[in-house]
Amino acid sequence: VRTACVHRILDIDLDRGLVVCEPGVRFGALLAALKPHGQTIGLVPSTAPTATVGGAASAHALGTGSPKFQSFGDEVAGLDVVLANGERVQTGSAASSQAGFFQRYCIGPDVTGLFLGADGTLGVVVAVALWLHPLPPDRETVCYGFPDADSVQRCIMEIQRRELVNNIWYAGAYEAPTIQTRIAQAFPDKPMDNLPGFALAIDYRGEAESIEQDETRIAEIAKSCGGDHFPDFNEAYFNKLRNEEIYWYSYAGFFAISRCAILMSSVPTDKLTAFMDVIGQQRKNFPQYPLGAAIVMCRRGLHGGALAFYDEASQWQGANTAMEECARALVAAGCVPYKSGKVWAEQVESFGPYSSLLKQLKQELDPNGILSPGDLGLANRK
Ligand SMILES: Cc1cc2nc3c(=O)[nH]c(=O)nc-3n(C[C@H](O)[C@H](O)[C@H](O)COP(=O)(O)OP(=O)(O)OC[C@H]3O[C@@H](n4cnc5c(N)ncnc54)[C@H](O)[C@@H]3O)c2cc1C
Repeated sequence: VRTACVHRILDIDLDRGLVVCEPGVRFGALLAALKPHGQTIGLVPSTAPTATVGGAASAHALGTGSPKFQSFGDEVAGLDVVLANGERVQTGSAASSQAGFFQRYCIGPDVTGLFLGADGTLGVVVAVALWLHPLPPDRETVCYGFPDADSVQRCIMEIQRRELVNNIWYAGAYEAPTIQTRIAQAFPDKPMDNLPGFALAIDYRGEAESIEQDETRIAEIAKSCGGDHFPDFNEAYFNKLRNEEIYWYSYAGFFAISRCAILMSSVPTDKLTAFMDVIGQQRKNFPQYPLGAAIVMCRRGLHGGALAFYDEASQWQGANTAMEECARALVAAGCVPYKSGKVWAEQVESFGPYSSLLKQLKQELDPNGILSPGDLGLANRK
C-alpha cells in the first residue's frame, strides 16, 4: 500500500489546538503550513523534508522535540486507521463521530497506541491528529564539553531529574571522534590534544529570559559534573546544524555515496556509558563498517543510534550481520528496541509474554498476515 500519494492537510484547528493530516504529508510541508498561524508540532525527525507523518507515527519518530515532548506518539491526539479487513476506525475522542479529535485518553484503553510504532503491522494509518504548539519566539544553541561519557551521563540525569527540559527542543551528545572531526575541519590550526571527550549540545527555544535562566542552571550542573561551556563546537558545527537545519540536507550527501544502516534503541540515561561500550566493542568486531553513535536526549531516557555506512553492492549482507550482533549486545546491556522494524525482530521475539501478546493481536487484526509481514518479529505472509 502506498500512502505517500495521500498528502492533504485536512484541518488546522486552532481552537482545539490540533492539526489533522493524511499520512503522506511531509514534515517540511506541514511546518510551512503551520508557520503563518504561529504554530508548530512537537516532534520533527531530522529526516523531515522526506519523512512522512504516517511513517513517523508508525515508526516512533524522534528528534527535534524529544527533550520536551519525548516521542512522536506522545504528540498524537488520535488516528484514523484502515484495518486488514477493510474496516475503518477512528481512535481517541474521534471514535464518536459527533465529537471528532480532541482527547486521546478517553472512552477506554488507548487504542491509538496500538498503531503507533506498529510499523504498519496492525493497520494502515489514513489520518493523524497532532497537537499544535506555539512557535517559540527565541532560540539559542549552547554546547558543553565533558571529559568522558560518564560525566555527560551524570549531567543529563540531573537535567532530567530537575525537569529543566521545557525550553530544550533538541539535545544531542557527541563522542570524541565527531568532536575531533568537526573541530579539525573548522579550525585546522587549533591544537587537538585537549579537546573534550564528549559534548552535550542543546538547542534551546522559548522566551529569551526563560532560556537564559535554564542555561545558567544547566551550565552549573555541567560544571558540577566536570564539564564546561564548549563554544568552539557550537561555532564549528552545532549552531549551523540547528539554525540552518543542514541536518536536513546532510543525509542526501551520505545516501549519494553510500547506504546507512541505522539501529535505534531506547537507552536509560544511566546506561549511556554501557551503550558507548557496546559501540566501542562493535567497532573492534566490525572495523570495515565505520560505526557512528548518535545520542538524542529525551524528556526521560535517551535514544541511542548506531549508524553504519556501507556500500550497497558489496557490503549489504555483512552490514546486516554487524547490526544484528549490535542489536543483541544492546539488549544485553539494558537498552531496548526503538523503531523496531525487521532488524530488531529477533529481540522482540525474545520478550516472551510481550511478544506473544503482540502475536495474538496480530492474529486477531490481520489473520492472513498481509500487513508489513515480518516486522516486529511477527509472522511472514502465510
Ligand atoms: C541517517 C538517518 C537518519 C535518520 N534520522 C532519523 C531521525 O532523526 N528521526 C527519526 O524518527 N527517524 C530517523 N531515521 C529513520 C527513518 O528512516 C526516517 O525517519 C525516515 O525518513 C522515515 O521515512 P517515512 O516517513 O517515509 O516512513 P517509511 O520509511 O515509509 O515508513 C516507516 C514505517 O512506517 C510504516 N508506515 C508508513 N506509512 C504508514 C501508514 N500510513 N500506515 C501504517 N504504517 C505506515 C512503514 O510500513 C514502515 O514500517 C533516520 C534514518 C537514517 C538512515
